[in-house]
Amino acid sequence: MIIIVRILLLLAVAWLAFVVVRRLLGGPDKVLPKSETKPELMQRCAYCDVHLPSGEATQSRGKTFCSEAHRDAYFKDHPND
Ligand SMILES: [Zn+2]
Repeated sequence: MIIIVRILLLLAVAWLAFVVVRRLLGGPDKVLPKSETKPELMQRCAYCDVHLPSGEATQSRGKTFCSEAHRDAYFKDHPND
C-alpha cells in the first residue's frame, strides 16, 4: 500500500515540475492572440509633417491633415493649393 502512495506522490511531483517548467518556458497557453486588425496606412499632415493613421486623418483638396485646425491654417497660408 505504501508503494502506491509513493508512486502517486512521485506522479504529483512530476506533474507539478512539468507545469512549472512549461510556465517558465512559455507554454502554448501563454501565446498572445494575433491582432485581428490590419495595419493602418500612415499619412503625413501637409501642415506640420506629423504622421498619423489614415483613419484619423482629415482629407481636403487632395491633401492630408492631422486636424481641421491644420487644414484651415494650411489653406490660409496656401490659398492657391
Ligand atoms: Zn498637422
